[in-house]
Amino acid sequence: MAGIYIHIPFCLQACHYCDFHFSTNLTNTSQLVAELCRELVLRKSYLPHNTPIESLYFGGGTPSILPTEEIRKIYQTVRENYDCQLKEVTLEANPDDLEEEKLEAYLKLGINRLSIGIQSFNDEVLRFYNRSHHAVQSFAALEKARSAGFKTLTMDLIYGYPHADHSIWQQDLAKTLELAPDHISAYCLTIEPNTALGIWQKKGKFDAASEDFQAEQFEILQQTLAPVGYIQYEISNFAKNNAFSLHNSNYWKGVPYLGIGPAAHSFDGQNRGHNVANNARYIKMLQNKQLPFQESKLSREDRINEYLLTSLRTIWGTKTGFLKEHYDWDILTEKKKILNDFQAQGLIHLDGETITLTDRGKLLADYLASALFI
Ligand code: SF4
Repeated sequence: MAGIYIHIPFCLQACHYCDFHFSTNLTNTSQLVAELCRELVLRKSYLPHNTPIESLYFGGGTPSILPTEEIRKIYQTVRENYDCQLKEVTLEANPDDLEEEKLEAYLKLGINRLSIGIQSFNDEVLRFYNRSHHAVQSFAALEKARSAGFKTLTMDLIYGYPHADHSIWQQDLAKTLELAPDHISAYCLTIEPNTALGIWQKKGKFDAASEDFQAEQFEILQQTLAPVGYIQYEISNFAKNNAFSLHNSNYWKGVPYLGIGPAAHSFDGQNRGHNVANNARYIKMLQNKQLPFQESKLSREDRINEYLLTSLRTIWGTKTGFLKEHYDWDILTEKKKILNDFQAQGLIHLDGETITLTDRGKLLADYLASALFI
């Protein structure tokens, strides 16, 4: 099984924290979609021969700003060129784009999961982030999606907005629970250097929240969602009623995926690669029948470390038997002292052949994984 990710590199406006690849110039959307379809055809052989596709993910950028007809063209190209055994088809949407007609068209196409970029229910915070929507539109979007017939909805939230106390985050979580989506992704506000927030921070116009403040909000998140049935199946992802994201879970389990579109990443099960992160160059290369893709070979060490970094963040944990079987590496012997120390500090559980993080350990996930690197 494998997945396909389609990157739609367009947004209405630039969010102040965002360092994904996107453009606010919407003049060449049709041309870019035509080239996305061409890339889908040209890269048919990227995935191991005839691998069935079980998940399709329209991400971005903002897929929901494209006319539905463009989404249909891409979807149809996937169907015509790949062995589709689709169980999950996700589309990322912003609350201000979700009109009834569009939602019905998505459902008819076969999109069965909507990922809605809510980020906060506080209008002051949304303005600070330069989001294109208001809080009231988030409530309306959820209601419209449900009435249209969407059963699986996921909401993206951001915590760590600098404020005197945790009241804004607590209110955001309370409103999220009122809406009761089956799936929530919550990310900490990270200040990237080339974003508006990064530039303001460098000029001294803005102070990010401290690490302690962010850690407290992460704990509030865990403590709010666990009692009402959400399972934290990955550091930033929570689901109830078994609504785990198949597409993302497969990423973390090392299942191959094909990434299509500018800046999209791919993994063929052995090596990774990425596409050129520039819309005009992407279009030009494909028009010249050149693939916009560059492969990066992974060494044995890279693969082990990647596996540690991703598996440790999940509820399924790091399987010591997997490392032995695939890489002939015995982490229990090689990292015995570190594992014992982490266990004694209450940061990990070591249960037979599985290493998982405790709630305290989840605060330090990347540090713990890197301490276990080969
Ligand atoms: S809508 Fe999403 S991709 Fe677009 S700028 Fe905002 S955060 Fe980035």
